[in-house]
Amino acid sequence: MNSDTIMYGVFGDPVRHSKSPVMLNRAFRETGINAAYAAFHVTPDRLGEAVKGIRALGFGGVNVTIPHKQAVMEWLDEIDEDARAIGAVNTIVVRDGKLIGYNTDGIGYVRSLAEETGFRPSGKRVLLIGAGGAARGVAFALAKERPAAIHIANRTKERALDLAAYIGRFTECSGHSLAELDDIPAADLIVNTTSAGMHPNVDEMPVDEGWMTRHVGAGTTVSDLIYNPLTTRFLKAAAARGARTHSGLGMFVYQGAYAFEYWTGRPAPTAAMREEVERALR
Ligand code: NAP
Repeated sequence: MNSDTIMYGVFGDPVRHSKSPVMLNRAFRETGINAAYAAFHVTPDRLGEAVKGIRALGFGGVNVTIPHKQAVMEWLDEIDEDARAIGAVNTIVVRDGKLIGYNTDGIGYVRSLAEETGFRPSGKRVLLIGAGGAARGVAFALAKERPAAIHIANRTKERALDLAAYIGRFTECSGHSLAELDDIPAADLIVNTTSAGMHPNVDEMPVDEGWMTRHVGAGTTVSDLIYNPLTTRFLKAAAARGARTHSGLGMFVYQGAYAFEYWTGRPAPTAAMREEVERALR
């Protein structure tokens, strides 16, 4: 670092567990860009001051994570159309002194799915388990790929119905409770967007093994947004039934890759970024 170093970072609460600093600093090193990326613990009551600091301190941009993805929108000059539609911002770009908000979570998911499994959502039937914040971005990005239908099942049925009503503007979509999972037609892609199975609750699964046996087979692609652990119990159960599996690490890498590309205008070194996150997780 020297007097020309451009600062980037992530605002979150909590934030000390974040793997974004090791991933993005590796990306800057790899591409020879004089920049540095740090984790900033920003509490909700200081979010406005922190966002003003981006401009005051001449940052190149920041990522925003839990719990600020919605609240940060009121402090920005412009919000990209898709981020506005999703209702959440995870990346702020400083352009000509303006703070512009983007959402790279959903597009990061779709890009990692295509690059890692070759799965193209167009014309396919998709089942999303969960209807929280991550599900919203992923459902929106999948809906833009023109699938045949998206079905959403959630523990709290009202949230599934709300999200389905919204996604239904873009593609055929229905909302269900987890108890109704057996009534949903077979899907080509099944995505766990819930936190069931995430460290330290690694023995949890969003659905039971019996349902997996009835609905998952060699023709199914099964994906989990969780990347800690890298292979969840849900993905192990899917692999045991012959499915092609896809972990949440790729989504994390590619949401960061899009942020890097928006900030620098350069292609992100995704293989090096992935290697760095894998090393940090180990
Ligand atoms: P969120 O907004 O809090 O939503 C949590 C979702 O999980 C809700 O649908 C909730 O259902 C459901 N859920 C929680 N515990 C459950 C259980 N035991 N059984 C069944 N359903 C359960 O969280 P989020 O931000 O969407 O994050 C969800 C997951 O995605 C987390 O594991 C997170 O790490 C992961 N994620 C990964 C990436 C990535 O880059 N790979 C990015 C973002 C998020 P209710 O509505 O009934 O509460």
